[in-house]
Amino acid sequence: MDLWKKTLDVLEGSVEPYDFKNWILPIQCDTIDQDGREIVLSVPDASHGEWLQENFIGEIKETLRSFTQHDYRVRFTYYGAYGDDDRQAAGRSTIAPVPQGAPPDLIHRYRFEEFVDGPTNQFAMTAARAVADHPGTRYNPLFIFGGVGLGKTHLLHAIGHAVVERNPAARVFYVTSETYVNDLIAAIRTDKMHAFRKRYRDDCDVLLVDDIQFIAGKDRSQEEFFHMFNTLHSAHKQIVMTCDQLPQSIPDMEDRLKSRLQWGLIADIKPPGFETRVAILKKKAEADGMDLPDDAAMLIARHVTRNVRELEGALMRVEANARMMRREIDVHLVEQTLSDIIGDGLRRVQPDQIVKAVCAEFKVQISELKGPRRHRNITVPRQIAMYLVRELTDESLPQIGGLFGGRDHSTVINALKRVEALRDANPDTRNRIEKVRRQLRE
Ligand code: ADP
Ligand code: MG
Repeated sequence: MDLWKKTLDVLEGSVEPYDFKNWILPIQCDTIDQDGREIVLSVPDASHGEWLQENFIGEIKETLRSFTQHDYRVRFTYYGAYGDDDRQAAGRSTIAPVPQGAPPDLIHRYRFEEFVDGPTNQFAMTAARAVADHPGTRYNPLFIFGGVGLGKTHLLHAIGHAVVERNPAARVFYVTSETYVNDLIAAIRTDKMHAFRKRYRDDCDVLLVDDIQFIAGKDRSQEEFFHMFNTLHSAHKQIVMTCDQLPQSIPDMEDRLKSRLQWGLIADIKPPGFETRVAILKKKAEADGMDLPDDAAMLIARHVTRNVRELEGALMRVEANARMMRREIDVHLVEQTLSDIIGDGLRRVQPDQIVKAVCAEFKVQISELKGPRRHRNITVPRQIAMYLVRELTDESLPQIGGLFGGRDHSTVINALKRVEALRDANPDTRNRIEKVRRQLRE
């Protein structure tokens, strides 16, 4: 794990503090396989992993290589993706933003306080709160269903947090049904059914099962789940499940289990309406310490309608762009950043996209590209960026100089000439320019 600690130290110096805190710090190093040259990093959820994959994977790999002289494969898993407690403990380093006392599998920010309610999720949220206030007595089981990215997992974790806040002694157990199935298979294979049953029945007061639909079609899992359900239920232990559909519509599920799932309360979540989407965006931006004006929030909300995960993704892109370009968020920046979603059919390449793409390709920081340094490692990418801005946008020479740290227009002219020459002389440079240009056109 030393390798990961060293990597973190380097990243802390090279990544923007905001990004470091929000994206890098929550990573927990799970395993490092020195022989297989693979590192497994555990992150809060899938969207966090995707974000890292898109934005920081290069820097992470580069840093690993600088210590090991080898290329490492980086794989992401999600907190709570395992059933095995030991592995979980081992994978959880001390830097994780998991507060003392909260069950380890719960994502910190998935709390009721962070959940924005509106007409399409209010019933589910109220039911979830009631269950958290009176576990095992009111609605048992609580069954929350709805489409992807609508806050089911968020509510499930929120129940867990709230239960533990009220009663720190309560034993809350969160699993995805996939984890449950894997746990069961492992228990059968290693002849440890006794321990398995103890864990899920005796050592647990509130059981939270995410995405129950995955046990469909798995006979042994359904059977075990059925008996577990009966045991927990008759002991007045709370069970909460989420699913992508109604119990009666889950294909390949035993009827007796379907009927159990309908014993308590069924609550659905639908995609949020416009006002709620705006409210969600405002709340997220505030939590991120970003100022999001109403008209900018409304513009995003108008175009991203399907689910909350996509809404968050769009906001993240806008925020990242604002920080990178050191600009306030406004309607213009939103239009620019989300041109693929908002665009009027006509997609224009923006100078800052070019800068970003060149920096990614040549592995230099944007601040360096726009800064005063004259080291060849930086001047070449800087000149190439100027060249591409000239080619792909309507910016004038003085404007281009201004974009790159206030350089004057004769510097830009020289840069364009240098790149022409380099391009003709050096196939590697030519290929890299071509690659960036292709990326920008995609
Ligand atoms: P699901 O489990 O239904 O696929 P998630 O619970 O993973 O969806 O939610 C996706 C993302 O959207 C999470 O980051 C979650 O915090 C956020 N989210 C969903 N609904 C809301 C809401 N009503 N208020 C605030 N954030 C929400
Ligand atoms: Mg989910």
